[in-house]
Order: sequence, then C-alpha cells, then structure tokens
Amino acid sequence: NNGKKADEGANYGIGLQDVGDGTGIVTRFPPEPSGYLHIGHAKAALLNDYFAHEEYKGTLLLRFDDTNPLKEKEEYQDAIIEDLALMGIKADKTSYTSDYFQELYEYCIQMIKEGNAYADDTLQDKMRQERMDGIPSERRDSSVEDNLARFEEMKKATDEGIKWCIRAKISVDDPNKAMRDPVIYRCSPEVHHRTGDKWKIYPTYDFCCPIIDAIEGVTHALRTTEYNDRDAQYQWFLKALKLRNVYNWGFARLNFVRTLLSKRKLTRVVDEGVVWGWDDPRMPTVRGVRRRGVTIPALREFILKQGPSKNIVNLEWGTFWATNKKHIDPISARYTAIAEEAKVPVTVIGAREGVITEDRDKHAKYTNLGKKKVVFSSNILLEQADAASFERDEEITLMNWGNAIVRSITHSINPLSTPAGLKTVTGLELELHLQGDVKKTAKKVTWLSADQNLIPVELADFDYLITKDKLEPEDKLEDFLNKETEFRTKCIADCNVAELKVDDIVQFDRKGYFRIDKAFVHGEPAVAFQIPTGKDKK
Ligand code: ATP
Ligand code: MG
Ligand code: MG
Repeated sequence: NNGKKADEGANYGIGLQDVGDGTGIVTRFPPEPSGYLHIGHAKAALLNDYFAHEEYKGTLLLRFDDTNPLKEKEEYQDAIIEDLALMGIKADKTSYTSDYFQELYEYCIQMIKEGNAYADDTLQDKMRQERMDGIPSERRDSSVEDNLARFEEMKKATDEGIKWCIRAKISVDDPNKAMRDPVIYRCSPEVHHRTGDKWKIYPTYDFCCPIIDAIEGVTHALRTTEYNDRDAQYQWFLKALKLRNVYNWGFARLNFVRTLLSKRKLTRVVDEGVVWGWDDPRMPTVRGVRRRGVTIPALREFILKQGPSKNIVNLEWGTFWATNKKHIDPISARYTAIAEEAKVPVTVIGAREGVITEDRDKHAKYTNLGKKKVVFSSNILLEQADAASFERDEEITLMNWGNAIVRSITHSINPLSTPAGLKTVTGLELELHLQGDVKKTAKKVTWLSADQNLIPVELADFDYLITKDKLEPEDKLEDFLNKETEFRTKCIADCNVAELKVDDIVQFDRKGYFRIDKAFVHGEPAVAFQIPTGKDKK
C-alpha cells in the first residue's frame, strides 16, 4: 500500500479518520469566486490536495461556491484556477454549487414537505434577536401548504416573495446557536454569472455544503475550526435528508500579524487604490506573496507544517520568510548594486592597466549557478555610507577583489544637511594591497568599476498595509492603514544585471535577496523587490 506516502504524512503529523486503503478518500476545496486566493485559502487548498493526492491516493474536487451573485465574477474564477495550478494543485473534477440549484431546490421542497423547514418573513433584526433569546418565530408552525406557497412566491421573486426566507426547523433554543433554525434559502432577484435570471432563490452555504458534499461523494470535509459549532447542523442535514455520511475535519484558520485575510477587506484596499491590484507585493494573496519573492515549495512547506494544529494563532511573518530563505538561498546568484545618489568616485592605485573583465562564479558556494563578468579597473564607485566611514591609512577589503589602503579622502561640506555642515565624501584614493589578509579587515565593501555598462535598477522594499497586529471587528480599516508602505532606492548595478529576467531571484551583495519584477529593457531601469528573510521587521 502507500507506506511511503503515509510516512510523509506522519512527518507533518496529519491524518484523517477511517481512510481504509486511502484510495476512496475524496476531499474538496470550495472557494467562493469573490476575490483572488489569499494565503488562508492556500492553506485550505494545500491541505485538501495533500490528503487527496499525497498522503492518500484519493480524489480532489474543486467546487466554486457561487451562491452569492452580487459578489462573484468570472475574473475571480479564472484567477483561482490559475493560482491553484501555480501551487501545483490540480483538481480531479471541477463543479459549481450552481450546478446543483435544481437538486437543492428539490431537497428544500422535501424538507418543507417533511416538516423540516418553514417559510419565515420575520424582519432580520427581530429574527436575530429571537434566535439569541431562543424564541420561536411566529411562522414556525405554518402549514406545509402555506410554506410551499411562500417558497413558490420566493421562486418568482414577487413583491411578496422577496420578503420571505426558508429556515430549517431544527431547534428554537439549542445551546449551540448554529442549531437554532438556520436560514437555508433566500430570495435574491439578481442575475447570476452562470445561471443568469433562471433562479431568484439562492441556497445558503450551510444548506448547500452537506448536500453537495454527499452528492459528490466527499468523504472528508475539511473546514476551519470556526465551523466546529456548525458541524452539528451539517450532520443534521445529512440525517434529515437521509444522505450518506461525510466526516468533518477541523483545521486552524491561518492568521498573520498586521495582515488582512478577508476577501472583503482585500477588495476594499484594491478598489480604493491603496495597492496596485490583487497581485501587489503587499497583498497576502498567493499572487502577492509570490511577487514579493516566495517560492511555491516554500509556501507549501510552511503551510503543511501548520497543518495539524488546531490552535488559532496570529503568526509572525518571520518564520514564513525564514522558510523561504532556505529555498531561495541556493538559487540566488549574487550581483552588486550601489545607491545612485550616494555613489563616490574612487581611484584605485596599483590596479592592472586598462579595463579587465574576468569570469567569476555567480555564487562562491553554489557554483552550479554559473559565471558572471566582473570588471576591474582603476575607476570604481563606492557607496557614500562606506566611504564616509573610512579613516586615512585604514586597510579595508574590496569584496571579491582584495584589500586596499585608504590613501586620501576628499570632502565637501554640505550646508543643507541636518545637522548643518555634514561632510560628504566626494572622492577617494585607494591603494591596492592584495597581499593583505581579507579576514583581518573590519570593513568589506561593495564596489563597481565605472568602466562597464552600469545598469540602472530600482530597489523597492515594502511594509505592512496595516498598523495593528490584529484588527478587531469594531476597528475601522481606514483608521489602521499604514500611510507609507513603499520605499524605493535608485541604484546602479553591474553589467550582468542587464540579463536578468522577470521572476529571477537574486542577491545583491550586502543588500539582501530580491525578486526581479521588471527586467532592464529599452534603457528603462530594472525593478527589484526586496525579499524579507525573517530577520528584518517585515
Ligand atoms: P474570506 O473571508 O477571506 O472571503 P472565506 O472563507 O469566506 O474567506 P471562501 O472562498 O469561502 O472564503 O474560502 C474557501 C476555503 O478557504 C474555505 O474552505 C475556507 O474555510 C478556507 N479559508 C478561508 N480563509 C482561510 C484562512 N484564513 N485560513 C484557512 N482557511 C481559510
Ligand atoms: Mg466562505
Ligand atoms: Mg468571507
């Protein structure tokens, strides 16, 4: 049997009950096509895929939960399919809740006929209060004929029909409030993106979920633990409609500090232009975190490690980025960039004559990454902060070249600086001292020969979108939006950077890891996004 795969599962410590030989396992991922997938959805999708395809040899269903025509769009549906593919997830079958509108309608009629559901026109606030207080609705004991007639009015969305909903008749005062006669059908005359104006009544998630799971042969319905209270209701529907058994399996919702993981809020920051779009590197969407530089294997590893825990915690991003760093370090070729504004021209005394180009490893340790060109000449550029730290006659190291001794420093006084009169280094003379020991110098600095095709590159770094670790339901989003979340530095980089392509992940010496978001084309600067490593605050 699947011993090897089961071992892998054991590594993550995840398992399902009653799996037999595993081939009959059927799981499902049921996204609502009302936004792009965020990393919380990614957790649900990866866990379902893990059980269906890795731990057991079963089946994964993708079901679009398209019961809310007001919020849903095809654009989102397509994006969800693409993002799943990106994560290496391929469902064995795809369906739509709307495929089952006819069956669901018939099940609702059955519920009404068997005395398990009734039509209600109690106003929303009053209904909420009655459910809180455990008081029955005035309509609870209406006759089957009246209930069926009202459901028909709803189906036609008549003026009368839109006032009504259908509720399951489970309990008035069960201590578990999810059991207090939940709404199962609503009248909503909007046009649906798949069924058009055919239906004017829409089943609720609570009603659809157990029925379609049973119809589609789902064996294990994975749900976040906030649904625990609704498991009893789910099981009640299966029993009332004499449907086959489905297990509920709870997992912890994924939350991160200072991160919005709700499509409703993410839609707002997109619509209000706080970010550039759903794939903005500040967005916790699958597209956003990828654009920020997360690799898919890192995302999978991080999420599956969280798999078995039912503890809902507000995760720090640090461990996420630290996991990613393990994955990107061995693939990151190293280049050099220095800030354009702060560059200091330097004369190197003792350099070989002319301009010399050598092939060097792109990474000293990971030589499989290939070679790059390093240009040596007597005209080089250093960064102001490095140059400003030098003392005369100090021995320093030019990275990947060797030691040099600071022979002269030229300053200008900056009258506009604060405090006034700060010195700026305007030029340096360094004398090579290649026999010096690079292990003994305190300063190892990046440099670029000025005698090469220097490539403009903009380095961008980002901060969290919100200023509070965890938004409470009463908190207004606009009060906690971070005002400054994007930081750009214009740099120049070595000639090799001209060849980098979008999505390449690289390291700029002493600056960190970056993902190329825009390649260098037609003289326009390349753009690279800083990838956090878990050590920085982001
Ligand atoms: P949102 O509030 O962001 O819209 P949702 O639950 O309403 O989330 P769905 O599209 O219905 O969005 O979710 C699809 C699946 O993803 C569901 O199984 C849901 O439980 C799961 N899911 C959503 N958010 C998270 C999260 N933060 N952590 C883990 N799973 C999640
Ligand atoms: Mg949902
Ligand atoms: Mg939601």
